[in-house]
Amino acid sequence: MTAPTLILPERSHAIASDLRAALGVDKVKDDYSTITAYAVDASIYRMSPKAVVLVESEEDIAATVRYAVERGIPLTPRAAGTNLTGSAIGSGIILDVSRLNRVLELNCEERWARVQPGIVLAELNKRLARDGLLFGPDPSSGDMCKLGGMLANNSSGPHTLRYGSVKDNVAALRVCLQSGEWLDAKAYGLEDPSCRNLLKTHKQLRDLRSLLQDYAPLIAQKRPTVSKNSCGYNLFGLADGIARGCFDLPKLFVGSEGTLGLFSEATIKLVEKPRATLTALIHFHRLEDVGEAVPQLLEVLPSALEVMDANTLNLIGRAKHGIPADAAATLLVELDADGAGIDLRAQAERMTQICRRYRLTSDPVIAFDPEAREQLWKARKALYPTLYRFDPKKKPINFVDDVVVPADRISELIRYLEEFFGGQHVPVAIFGHIGNGNAHIIPLLDVNDQGDFQKMVQAYYEIHQTVLDRFGGSICGEHGDGRVRAEYVKTMFGPELYDLFVRVKQSFDPAGVLNPGIKISDRPFTDHIDYERLSKPCATCAKCNAVCPVYDVFQSEDMSSRGWFEIVTDKNYSYLNSKRVVEACLNCKSCRTACPAGVDVSQLILDRRAENPNKLAGVIFYFHAQTALFERFLKFLARYQSLWDRPLMRRLLDHLTKPLMRRLAETARLSPQLVLPRLAQRHLRDRYPELILQAGQTARSPVAYFHGCAANYFDDGVGDAVIAVLRKHGVEPDLPPQRCSGTPIETYGHRALAKDGARVNLASMAKYDKVVTGCASCTLMLKDYPTLFAGEPEQSAAQALAKRVTHISEFVAQSPVKPAMGSAHSTKCKVAYHSSCHLRAAGVTKEPRAILRGLPGVEYVEMPDADRCAGGAGTYLVKDFETSQRIVERKRRAVEQSGAEVVATSCPACMIQLRTGLQGAAEVKHVAQLIQEAYEAADRS
Ligand SMILES: Cc1cc2nc3c(=O)[nH]c(=O)nc-3n(C[C@H](O)[C@H](O)[C@H](O)COP(=O)(O)OP(=O)(O)OC[C@H]3O[C@@H](n4cnc5c(N)ncnc54)[C@H](O)[C@@H]3O)c2cc1C
Ligand code: SF4
Ligand code: SF4
Repeated sequence: MTAPTLILPERSHAIASDLRAALGVDKVKDDYSTITAYAVDASIYRMSPKAVVLVESEEDIAATVRYAVERGIPLTPRAAGTNLTGSAIGSGIILDVSRLNRVLELNCEERWARVQPGIVLAELNKRLARDGLLFGPDPSSGDMCKLGGMLANNSSGPHTLRYGSVKDNVAALRVCLQSGEWLDAKAYGLEDPSCRNLLKTHKQLRDLRSLLQDYAPLIAQKRPTVSKNSCGYNLFGLADGIARGCFDLPKLFVGSEGTLGLFSEATIKLVEKPRATLTALIHFHRLEDVGEAVPQLLEVLPSALEVMDANTLNLIGRAKHGIPADAAATLLVELDADGAGIDLRAQAERMTQICRRYRLTSDPVIAFDPEAREQLWKARKALYPTLYRFDPKKKPINFVDDVVVPADRISELIRYLEEFFGGQHVPVAIFGHIGNGNAHIIPLLDVNDQGDFQKMVQAYYEIHQTVLDRFGGSICGEHGDGRVRAEYVKTMFGPELYDLFVRVKQSFDPAGVLNPGIKISDRPFTDHIDYERLSKPCATCAKCNAVCPVYDVFQSEDMSSRGWFEIVTDKNYSYLNSKRVVEACLNCKSCRTACPAGVDVSQLILDRRAENPNKLAGVIFYFHAQTALFERFLKFLARYQSLWDRPLMRRLLDHLTKPLMRRLAETARLSPQLVLPRLAQRHLRDRYPELILQAGQTARSPVAYFHGCAANYFDDGVGDAVIAVLRKHGVEPDLPPQRCSGTPIETYGHRALAKDGARVNLASMAKYDKVVTGCASCTLMLKDYPTLFAGEPEQSAAQALAKRVTHISEFVAQSPVKPAMGSAHSTKCKVAYHSSCHLRAAGVTKEPRAILRGLPGVEYVEMPDADRCAGGAGTYLVKDFETSQRIVERKRRAVEQSGAEVVATSCPACMIQLRTGLQGAAEVKHVAQLIQEAYEAADRS
């Protein structure tokens, strides 16, 4: 069945204006940036929609469905857009459910929850973990994918072995049918009056019931025999229900990929979170041995059993992940302990004994603690986007990515695939859920090259056919059919069963508007391939969206890291058509830290801003660079701060400065709620004349302290603490001449000005063995000077400086001197750490935590979301105060949940933001201040 030709209104923006009138202006978008961002998901395809609706209620969903049906406009539901098959993009309306992201009800005794479809799996599980519970199915995209997409794709993951797929874990769904009516899709007893009523009211359910009855033998005959299948509609699950005497409706809708109805909520079944877990990496010398070991390993009842073949190990880099050069395949095994008395070590020993029967290239690596286990999983979970680093042209292409064969034949499959792709001279990564026989096959191809394109087409048909004929398998285990496999569903099941699928689709969606082109379609899989994007470095995996603070508050792809990559690299990009979104990025760099493909979206945005530097910011930074004059002005402000920094005066200031601030950004203002730091009347450099080094003087110390602007100009004790701590470690630092590291200057597009300052810093810091920093942003900026001067004469000096930059927490952790520490508090003080984004991006994450843990009188608590942006981001809290406060709200809740009395951090902007956002819920201190307090307490005792 071909997707029906749909009549679109002549003027496409009519759709958006109609929908705006019905739903409200904030929920409907159709501007260039939105359309560009929503044209992609994590598949190889592109389709530009006409409008995007960000629904906030069931009424919004029903109204949009009715409108789409009335007008014959394709309607594509969408959650996180991480599917690999092109099922969350479409040519009409995209209905994004991300704002429906609450847990509506949780029943711990009976272990179920009622959940909305926009919730991210990782967030859901964090919430459930508080009650010792877990939603079992765990796609590797769990940090970013959302429940709606998981339901519609019947997702699963490494732990399917233990918990099954989504279809095994859903009790009920609220489904909006094509008529706009709501269906409570649960398992109804066939004889129940409620079932009879349902059949009376819904013709499509009557049709379905008869079809299941009339074609029971055909359905039984065509049932896939492998342990996993997400291809076609799950008539097999429905038939099982009928055999048990029930009409098991969730089985129809789970895995239906938005083609039969839209979900507004699901009642999901929960399991107890394992009490302890063990993860092991086992490297095999021979691939065939893996196949033999798997059935034996399954006897130890692993919760996950994953494989990566030799090519995959080569492609992700063996050395980087500590994988022996001679490993032909690596197994990742996980064992869970549920009840008391289960001895994981004994189980691990049994597992090791099994593996020792084979030639291993090294001893199995076994990890118990969560951090070490996470490290073992890291490479596996980010495998697909990591492959994007392999070659600038050859990209991992998902088109035969999800086959299933009997588990004991997986080595045979891998051998066949290696030979097949070897014959094509195509590098390929083969990995997956070996315990279920589910292999992910990702060849690396340049689809813009005719030869590679032909190889892709050949591989598509040959491999799928081989999986069916030789292995009796399925072409789709968990990723869904989408656009990529729709063409082959008929071959998988044969024309008779396919015809039943078509009848189900027609009965539930007679107008053919629900996600046309998906699952049931005879369009070739090569339609709508995004050739241009497949030559770019972004895998569109959305891992960055999961950490992007702007996406977190707006829940809209045009306000997200992945969306911004699309926008700023689009051929039709202009600053004018995208200013709104280009200026919305905080430059927090969280995306860069998270991206497995090595893309730095924030840098691309800075490049675009550099094409349009902000004029007012330019004037301010020019003044800032006139150090003597600027500092005199700051001291003047400091002297009268007690007068102007009062509520009434601040309100007046806000009012008076608004017109000027607008020239910085539409949203910019000096909010009276912003808790400003006290400005210093004597700057740090005035207070430590003995440490000042004038330009041209020889260094007195091997260590320079790069204090940056904040520690110099604010009277907040941070600079004094850093100096005191260094002195305790026997270091009398130099304070050489220095200019702003450049972060805020670059943020407003003034790269040339940032470079001017950076040149001064490069010259003045060149003579030191170590350049100690206290500010997170200065630390990162100094380490990033090589990028700022890429390809320029200063680059090698910048690289030399980058190696010597040391944050004060790193300095203390590395120092051989261990000064005595005492407790600064009479009772234990609960301290949490907010990990500033720029310090994280600079790679400093463990040292501050280790130091805080070791402070006497401190009970260190790891707060939830410690690694998430707080929304301060330099001057962002001035540029867009309202958004910054929406961002910090999550942090406030996390601090509250942790019970911390003090939040430690390393960034002046974070300190201002936390003081503003926490509203006194906890004290905010720099890590150096807490260290200093501990040293001083020891001196006193
Ligand atoms: C790096 C990476 C790793 C992955 N690993 C796995 C894995 O291990 N296992 C696995 O199964 N998948 C995996 N995937 C695929 C993908 O993440 C999953 O299919 C995921 O569940 C999709 O969720 P989503 O929120 O992104 O959905 P989307 O991509 O937004 O949508 C998926 C489908 O759901 C439909 N849909 C969304 N919301 C609704 C709704 N409310 N009502 C009706 N239909 C709706 C959409 O129309 C679409 O058809 C991976 C993807 C990536 C990028
Ligand atoms: S920028 Fe990186 S993390 Fe973000 S979508 Fe692209 S590849 Fe994924
Ligand atoms: S820098 Fe921060 S705000 Fe900007 S795109 Fe990256 S994660 Fe989002």
